[in-house]
Amino acid sequence: MARALDQETREALAARLRFYRDLGLTEFYRRPVDFSTIEAGAEAEIAVASAEIAITSVQDQSVSAPLNPTQNFVAEEQAISARKSLVAPPQIGSVVAPEERAAALLQIVEDIGDCKRCELHKGRNTIVFGQGSPTARLLFVGEGPGADEDAQGLPFVGRAGQLLNNMISAMGLSREEVYICNVVKCRPPGNRTPEPDEANTCSQFLFRQIDVVRPQVIVALGATAATYLLGQRQPLAGLRGRVHAWRGSSLIVTYHPAYLLRDPRQKKEAWADLQIAMKELGLKAPKRI
Ligand code: URA
Repeated sequence: MARALDQETREALAARLRFYRDLGLTEFYRRPVDFSTIEAGAEAEIAVASAEIAITSVQDQSVSAPLNPTQNFVAEEQAISARKSLVAPPQIGSVVAPEERAAALLQIVEDIGDCKRCELHKGRNTIVFGQGSPTARLLFVGEGPGADEDAQGLPFVGRAGQLLNNMISAMGLSREEVYICNVVKCRPPGNRTPEPDEANTCSQFLFRQIDVVRPQVIVALGATAATYLLGQRQPLAGLRGRVHAWRGSSLIVTYHPAYLLRDPRQKKEAWADLQIAMKELGLKAPKRI
């Protein structure tokens, strides 16, 4: 017989199961999970399902639970890196019509719905999904919406966004030609860094978004984007200045524009990173940022 679970454990398990369901995983070990009973909070079903997940996750380390901020750092690192292999990477270069990609992006918006999967929903005005060309060759990933983005529902529209626009035009591109999104789609209170469980819960949608756009080059803006894309927490200095292979795309890490606003001396370094991105894209630098 399944043992009774306390409320907190039950909620954590239900959240984890919703996370797996959103990834399209509904079969755990022996039998499918009936999500309707889980939504209704049936303890026995959750207990059986969670036992099965525990067994499955021992068998298949590619399926990881969302990061828990209370876990120790090693466990956290393992959970971050396990995320990298959750979904098969897309085939870069395969031809998918722009309208099909736009429809696939809309499907993700629909799947996100009126999201309450993590605490961030409590303080948001809008979900900031992303913006740009569904066939962009260059995709930027930031951390999460700030106040302006939360008000307008668009990424990078505040002061940091203006600097990002300058960076994009210095590369000889327009904002309409690229795609811009964030690790988390709801504004963290007071613009704090997203907690690992928030970033992990939301990054399933980020991965799907990137898989639809299939950019040739991804630029990770700042440590949060770099951590959750690369699956490793390292000082930015160790990740910048080179090309990382990422699910068929080239990934370049650089400073977050908000950091560059605080310390403009680092713009030179950021420009060097963007030039690496441009080289990957076969673009010539028209001017400096
Ligand atoms: N900072 C981010 O990381 N993302 C935004 O969309 C805006 C500011």
